Amino acid sequence: MRFETRAIHSGQDPDSATGAVIVPVYQTSTYRQDAIGKHKGYEYSRTGNPTRKALEDALASLEGGKHGLAFASGLAATTAVFSILKKGDHVIAGDDIYGGTYRLLEKVFRRWGLEVTYADADDGDAFQGAVQENTKLIWIETPTNPLLKIVDVKKLSEITKKENIILAVDNTFATPYFQRPLELGADIVVHSTTKYLSGHSDIIGGAAITSRQDIYIDLKFYQNAAGAVPGPWDSWLALRGIKTLSVRMREHEGNALYLAGYLSGHPRVERVYYPGLPGHSRHKLAKEQMSGFGGMISFELKGGFPEVEKFVSRLKIFLLAESLGGVESLVCYPPKMTHSSFSAEERAKRGIKDNLIRLSVGIEHKDDLKDDLEQALG
Ligand SMILES: *Cc1c(COP(=O)(O)O)cnc(C)c1O
Repeated sequence: MRFETRAIHSGQDPDSATGAVIVPVYQTSTYRQDAIGKHKGYEYSRTGNPTRKALEDALASLEGGKHGLAFASGLAATTAVFSILKKGDHVIAGDDIYGGTYRLLEKVFRRWGLEVTYADADDGDAFQGAVQENTKLIWIETPTNPLLKIVDVKKLSEITKKENIILAVDNTFATPYFQRPLELGADIVVHSTTKYLSGHSDIIGGAAITSRQDIYIDLKFYQNAAGAVPGPWDSWLALRGIKTLSVRMREHEGNALYLAGYLSGHPRVERVYYPGLPGHSRHKLAKEQMSGFGGMISFELKGGFPEVEKFVSRLKIFLLAESLGGVESLVCYPPKMTHSSFSAEERAKRGIKDNLIRLSVGIEHKDDLKDDLEQALG
């Protein structure tokens, strides 16, 4: 079956008890057992819940993986992945990553003895150069947050396979509709389902998907042992969002392409970061490894923070908010919002300038969005 069909049907068979077409919200903490040690596959909802299971199976199917695991947030999924490592292990992370992932590595996992190095996400050789004897995992995002860099997953997976390193890819920005890292050689895909997968800015959730049995066993053990699982309602909402993922992503992308082109030609805009623009430094790679460019745009406004503040305050449709991937358009100022856990020095090193603005382009009418940007820039 093709992607659009799997998004609606995978893991989502009609309910065996009633025939309900939609997977029910199994709002229960526990399950009656027929006899001691004899049950229907569910014992306790931290360990397993049918609504969550439907979501996990759907996610695995969309990513082309064997196993899906749902978590209470994207960072809970990320925590699970790092938790399969042990003290003294070394992680290489791309330098342009979600601020919360950076904070987790720096403020939590370093204290538990994980070693971390950052590699320039724009330079494939930088990852090879950072490999140590104790390197156990490489963590990347592509496209990256917030500079929309593109990492060559296939090339990186050749390194990780050779060196017996786990390759984990945060696929939140692209979604499986546009990019499937497992098919490109990654071992684990991680999502903040809070974003495009649920798509309506109404839940916090996360997921990890893998085809490797050894990794699945470790992650599954950790999921139950640590317990950061989503409840049935949130699982149900994520599942409901996933059904329309392909339709939404096509609209997000169409609008983003249109606005990126518009911004590129605007005299008040210094630079636009969008992998769909022919001028993007990795446009060709993006075209090869992704089937679309997504709905995220970053750009630098001429001037500095005062100009950014004025621009943002004038916007009427784009809402000033953290997060992304919902049907409504959002604007974010990474230095003070999503990436405030980086020091000014760390931001400068990574090329996150004080005039950087990030847009999550929604699926409103593209000309209403353009008009909003125009009046705010004017
Ligand atoms: C939001 C986000 C996360 C964290 O997810 P939460 O659901 O907020 O915990 C991780 N990675 C990326 C790329 C994100 O955008």
